[in-house]
Amino acid sequence: MEDCVQNHRKCKVLNPRNSTLPKRILQLRAPRAFLKEHLQPRPEENYACLSHCWGPQGPTIKLTRNTEETLHRGMPIDDLPNTFAEAARVCLKLGITNLWIDALCIRQDDVDDWREAAATMAGIYENAFVTIAALCGKGSNDGLRPSFGDRFKIKKLRDTDLYVRQAYLEFPSRVNPDDTSVWPLLWRAWVFQEMWLSPRVIYFSAFQVTWQCHTASRSQDGFCDTGFANEEGPEDPERFWLGQWKDPVAAWHIVVDNYSKLNLTYESDRLPALAALADKMLQFRKSDAYIAGVWRNSLLSDIGWVTSGYRKHRTPNSRIPTWSWASLTLVGGIRYSFQNPHIISSVKVVDCSYTAIGPVNTGRVHDATITLRGPLLNFVANAVRLYGEDAFRVADSHFDPNKFAFMTSPDCDLVDAESPPVFNEIFKALLLYDGTDDKEWRVGGFGLLLREISDGEYIRIGAVEIFPTPHRSGLQDHISQEWLDNFIADLPVGEVSIV
Ligand SMILES: [Zn+2]
Repeated sequence: MEDCVQNHRKCKVLNPRNSTLPKRILQLRAPRAFLKEHLQPRPEENYACLSHCWGPQGPTIKLTRNTEETLHRGMPIDDLPNTFAEAARVCLKLGITNLWIDALCIRQDDVDDWREAAATMAGIYENAFVTIAALCGKGSNDGLRPSFGDRFKIKKLRDTDLYVRQAYLEFPSRVNPDDTSVWPLLWRAWVFQEMWLSPRVIYFSAFQVTWQCHTASRSQDGFCDTGFANEEGPEDPERFWLGQWKDPVAAWHIVVDNYSKLNLTYESDRLPALAALADKMLQFRKSDAYIAGVWRNSLLSDIGWVTSGYRKHRTPNSRIPTWSWASLTLVGGIRYSFQNPHIISSVKVVDCSYTAIGPVNTGRVHDATITLRGPLLNFVANAVRLYGEDAFRVADSHFDPNKFAFMTSPDCDLVDAESPPVFNEIFKALLLYDGTDDKEWRVGGFGLLLREISDGEYIRIGAVEIFPTPHRSGLQDHISQEWLDNFIADLPVGEVSIV
């Protein structure tokens, strides 16, 4: 930590020492912790954040009307839930006298206070001197280092002087660790932005302690790396974030791709738990608008997602429009079909209307409608199956399956849907992309699969991906592209409003 404070130039720029304290903070005065409001920091005074799993029951003490007075009067640190108490002791050892814990610093029985905190979360984690991450605890009583038993202990080999231990699990990259049981914290959707925004994180895992800042990563077992800094070594904070801010559209797709795979206790938190990152992104997109998880100025790119998971359905009563990935509850998340899509020239956003609710960075809206213009193609529900990739087939006599394949991916499990598709029911596909801008040949394509719910008004029910089938046709890429371009050019162009 000292090395970071004194020698890491990048870390100093990104996290100057004097920062304002959050609205509420736990002031640590051993052996007690006091809840303070609007505390003015002394020079050089800073604070730490705790990142932890609430567990199914939640912490045994939370800030509510009933506990407020007790917390203001101060509680013995030893009486706090184990994870909180251990985090407080770590802070004191590091000379940090203020600790922010969501459960104790946001009123848990006051929706307005909660909303305000969710909207200002970006600053809380970004301005913290360090974040303590309880990586393995499944609840607030598990402490910072729950035991994995003997699994990783050093053992002496019989009749030798050799000592061995099972290798520590490789520290996961910052998102999407494979094993949900070993790193439960990193699978919590709320934690995603906490890890991305914190300038320094001390990870307490069952095996060892790992330090990460923008310059360095150090583990107890001797592992050293460059931390979550990117290779380009940007000194300019505006360029820092993941190194991808230079291309905010691609950066947001990476964020959503990763975030959409994570778990939430309350699906209604899907947008609030990303609000801090949206807030950060807003600083880079000043003339843009954040609408239900997508951005107005890159709307046509942002709605080009495909579900990559299973067990998916539309979140009931969410008011999130069907063209937003955030309208779905899913395991496995979404992916973007093309990172730099080449948008078909006849495709236009005719209108985008909505009413925003609450702070802009939560992206909460109602009555959101987009009206798009573009080539339309008919699909019918397949006779054989009503789910999976072959649930629909193209209903167009010009379509030659020897040249292209259309693969449909329903957004939801249609069989279980309230009104499953009826055999031979007609659906519309609005084609958006005819490939990618990255390569010379842009073979392939993407569209939205839509169901008409009233005159001219549609909901999104899936995605359509177009693949050339050269193995059947023997066509070269450029001929495939020509075929696709001609096929799309022959399609009627129409307008659809999607809610
Ligand atoms: Zn550093």
